[in-house]
Amino acid sequence: MAIAQRGGFLETVLDQFDRTAARLNLDPSLRVVLRTCKREFTVNFPVQMDDGQVRVFTGYRIQHSQARGPSKGGIRYHPGVTIDEARALAILMTWKCAVVRLPFGGAKGAVDCDPHRLSIKEIERVTRRFTAELEPIIGPDSDIPAPDLGTGAREMAWILDTYSMHRGYSVPAVVTGKPIELGGSEGRLEATGHGVALCVAESAKRSGLPWPNVRVAIQGFGNVGSVTARVLASQGCPIVALSDVSGGVYHPSGLDLRNLTRHVEEHLQIAGFPGGEPIDNASLLTCDCDVLVPAAMEQQILASNADQVRARLIVEGANGPIDGIADEMLAKRGVTIVPDILANAGGVTVSYFEWVQGREAFFWSEAEVRERLVTIMTKAFDDIWRTAKSEGVTLREAALLLAVDRVGRALSLRGLYP
Ligand code: NAD
Repeated sequence: MAIAQRGGFLETVLDQFDRTAARLNLDPSLRVVLRTCKREFTVNFPVQMDDGQVRVFTGYRIQHSQARGPSKGGIRYHPGVTIDEARALAILMTWKCAVVRLPFGGAKGAVDCDPHRLSIKEIERVTRRFTAELEPIIGPDSDIPAPDLGTGAREMAWILDTYSMHRGYSVPAVVTGKPIELGGSEGRLEATGHGVALCVAESAKRSGLPWPNVRVAIQGFGNVGSVTARVLASQGCPIVALSDVSGGVYHPSGLDLRNLTRHVEEHLQIAGFPGGEPIDNASLLTCDCDVLVPAAMEQQILASNADQVRARLIVEGANGPIDGIADEMLAKRGVTIVPDILANAGGVTVSYFEWVQGREAFFWSEAEVRERLVTIMTKAFDDIWRTAKSEGVTLREAALLLAVDRVGRALSLRGLYP
């Protein structure tokens, strides 16, 4: 069934696709296929809670496209997550893998739950039962999950174990982002943040900003936000604002990251950090800075706040943090936006390395991983920057032109079965 356009995030993603397809003059038969998710799986599954009661959770796995290879994408644990959110994220994964030329299609999974309100044992039971439900449609050659919002290496280890127990032998390549001890890759944990930092550096230099003396504000201090902050600070950028779900802090000449990290380790939140002025998440997005890195959730910069954004450069660490109207408003004001499908592609790139290493059972050093990551990300960045200039389009439009064209060609070469 073709996807109806509803809900802000999915609507934005489909609208971007429609405009790109029109620009490419994409064959109508390819358009109709790529506008639809190939396989959509919804499951309501029971889990016994620590108090003995049984609760039913809803989970999704959406496989948008497998035209260029097995589908790849994270699993998110987040309260209120919807199937439309999973669809939008799966579609973005297809474009992202094509942007960095990985032999993968796109997928995304989600479970509607708040991991902060579950015990570790409850999270384990949710993960194992969800994996058992997913088993017929995931696998190293078909669809390979990874961490996303609210999940990490721990959950990947449980998915690997559950899937392997059912098969009767160990299948480490069924997931990426797993612990190093179970066949994870060196450098995977930091990969997305390193890629985001690379995009900040490349785009700042090419936009004529005084690198590295650019004031950076980052929304989100999880995997992506914290690594991006650390890498940029180590390169000499003042990190003037940081936030997490609890709130944020601002310091005009740069926050002391070491002290802030210690505060977060102790208090499990940024709010209350004494080394800066407290700000809320809405103010972080519009604070006085040169570079803004949204690295938390989708749909943060909207028509209602886009005009107040003061950054000259936005690098999308999160998936879909800017909606369609805000994107146009910012572009009109001359704000450079490095789109999610390029900026945060470092994670899936090293996931690909992990999958390759697992299948060969031959592992690379962190330096080798980093070198290959930089090569792939720099090439993708160059291609997109050049296309944007030659076609007179934004970086997002350029990235989509390259990605949709690559996926369209693969689909066309495969032809229609039967
Ligand atoms: P995470 O769970 O490690 O961290 C999320 C951070 O966002 C936390 O600091 C949390 O407190 C904060 N947050 C949550 N809700 C918020 C809100 N409403 N306002 C402000 N902050 C809020 O997640 P992550 O892995 O860092 O992922 C962040 C984003 O990056 C997501 O959009 C994810 O899809 C995307 N992404 C992640 C990876 C990866 O490798 N982890 C790769 C590509 C894209």
